[in-house]
Amino acid sequence: MQTLDILLSNSGLDPNLKAIAQKVKNNERITFDEGVYLYEKAELSYLGILANYIREQKHGDRTYFNRNFHIEPTNICVYDCKFCSYSRMIKQREEGWEMDVEGMIDILKKYDNEPVTEVHITGGVVPKQNLEFYSEFFKRAKAHRPELHIKALTPVEYYYIFKKAKLSHYDGMKHLKEAGLDSMPGGGAEIFHPEIRQQIAADKCTAEQWLDIHEQAHKLGMRSNATMLYGHIEQFWHRVDHMEQLRQLQDKTGGFQAFIPLKFRNQNNQMSHVPEVSVIEDLRNYAIARIYLDNFDHIKAYWAMISRETAQLSLNFGVDDIDGTLDDTTKIYSMAGAEEQTPAMSTKELVDLIKHVNRKPIERDTLYNVVTDYTDVVFEEDNKPSYYKLPVVN
Ligand code: SF4
Repeated sequence: MQTLDILLSNSGLDPNLKAIAQKVKNNERITFDEGVYLYEKAELSYLGILANYIREQKHGDRTYFNRNFHIEPTNICVYDCKFCSYSRMIKQREEGWEMDVEGMIDILKKYDNEPVTEVHITGGVVPKQNLEFYSEFFKRAKAHRPELHIKALTPVEYYYIFKKAKLSHYDGMKHLKEAGLDSMPGGGAEIFHPEIRQQIAADKCTAEQWLDIHEQAHKLGMRSNATMLYGHIEQFWHRVDHMEQLRQLQDKTGGFQAFIPLKFRNQNNQMSHVPEVSVIEDLRNYAIARIYLDNFDHIKAYWAMISRETAQLSLNFGVDDIDGTLDDTTKIYSMAGAEEQTPAMSTKELVDLIKHVNRKPIERDTLYNVVTDYTDVVFEEDNKPSYYKLPVVN
């Protein structure tokens, strides 16, 4: 008998939770109110059963990762998000970095002989890194290594860049797609509801602008991801509202690939007085996202942000993707106080991490095509003895 059936046969289960579990079993969508009810009333074990059921229906034991590296063109920013531990404001320019196109190409070239499939580009927003800047970079990057997938920038940068260039969202995205942009990561979404957005990220693009830029990218055939910054001043219903807006756009375009909950970290930012939520809440949140976002294929956890151990746990709470090898190329997580201060894992380490919790490690490209199925792969190091035999005394 499946764990979900055992749960459903429990006569002591809260009737509302039973109705939600039955919907999951019937592959039916849950409502906004049911989403809020899950946050308010459901225990971790219950949520794990539902989320894992959905995860295994969609992916079995398959757990995805990719081989990527990051380029962060600048950590200077014209905006002032209260939760941001990363950026230096324009007036503190001397404390930050601001790359030119040449510098970014130099980083790209360092990976010439590495089997990476993706470069992930994101950072702050500065006037110099404008439409011409990124058009030139994307063109040169593609000319140098055409097969490398460019996943770059978020609507926060694009909104600023397109406004300055006096281009519509559609025309701006089209222009950059033609220059070589392949897809968009999910950042900058934070919490959509204005009640919260106004307090934590008042001056950057609105929810409507964020969603519209993704919609235009999807219209052009590009895929993208979506994030949610949780665990600060928002209430549970704000999280459900956020996911509801994503679910509606996904119904319309089908262009999102993964949903990525991002845990608020309280180091080195203007919200240091706000306590962080527990690991239990992290896992509950992954699970509810898996249940609520029935039209998203993937729920992703950034292992570098939540720690390797929590990433392993999350694979039983709806997560099927733990991001990439990173190669210590990002500062975004460590500056916010993440457990991993120098985030880098070899492919073998990532594969072992997944295998140790009895899942199947699949290296994917950005679009979830399988690059290598590591289920039965044995690394050279695996054949070396991991202990020394003690001498036997006869
Ligand atoms: S979160 Fe992004 S947009 Fe906001 S201040 Fe930091 S770098 Fe700038």
